[in-house]
Amino acid sequence: MGTTGQPALPDVSSAPPPVVRGEPVEVSDGVFVIPDNRVPLVPNVGIVVGDRAALVVDTGLGRRNGAYVLEQARRLAGDRPLYLTMTHFHPEHGFGAEAFQDAATILYNRAQRDELHRKGAAYLDMFRGLAPGIAAELAGVEFTDPDVVYDGQVELDLGGHRAVLRSWVPAHTAGDQTVFVDDRVLFGGDLIETRMFPIFPPFDTDVDGHGWIAVLDQLSALAPAVVVPGHGEVTDAKLIREVRDYLDHVRGEAARLRADGASADDAAAAIDKAARNRWRTWANPEWIDFAARAFYAAAPPAS
Ligand SMILES: [Zn+2]
Repeated sequence: MGTTGQPALPDVSSAPPPVVRGEPVEVSDGVFVIPDNRVPLVPNVGIVVGDRAALVVDTGLGRRNGAYVLEQARRLAGDRPLYLTMTHFHPEHGFGAEAFQDAATILYNRAQRDELHRKGAAYLDMFRGLAPGIAAELAGVEFTDPDVVYDGQVELDLGGHRAVLRSWVPAHTAGDQTVFVDDRVLFGGDLIETRMFPIFPPFDTDVDGHGWIAVLDQLSALAPAVVVPGHGEVTDAKLIREVRDYLDHVRGEAARLRADGASADDAAAAIDKAARNRWRTWANPEWIDFAARAFYAAAPPAS
């Protein structure tokens, strides 16, 4: 950790297999979530069912998960046309898209598509190295290009339900996307997690904490009634402010410590210790160190 200058990823080697399981739960009229049940590297998967079409949000990691999500979508949507989109390119969110290749119209925003092309192979290698069970789920994965690439935002009229897909400035990734259904249900991807420290992807210089805070401010302003995080329990808009408060705390401390002349290692160690104490119920404290270093790197140096 911070004290050694050797930050470590959360250890998932003894976690349950990263498999999307269970029945979709209706969280709002026509909006279903297959909950992650807090299993590492399983996302919350969304299925929005309109009168005319249905939209799937995220697939889970690998072919088996993608096929399971497709099966659940078909069960709910019958033979309505399907759309598929991803909150961002990370493997546990989007690397099951192959299963939908001939079954759905696939949409990504431009930055997300480009980021998948740029980094998909490196993330695949990194994830395969995490544990044999994860490598097994990723066996034979092929990257899936979208049928439709959009800039800014796009609105899908599903018949009785409307989904707005919107891209943002770089934050958790360069190509984060939210899906806002009926001005009511927000799919936030990994911009928002319930009771876990926000994930700062290591060795990835596109993660932008300042951008992230700015995006969360705009998401709060949407005042969603229901918030579906990338990971963790479905909840409400209070969660957006909680995540923002944490990021703002780390930003402030990193800037203060750097201005005082602390090294990156010392700043990360101090921030790590304080945040573990303050957010005791949050999982994956390993991410604090990465967040602290990202904010430290972005802060003005001591003068
Ligand atoms: Zn992610």
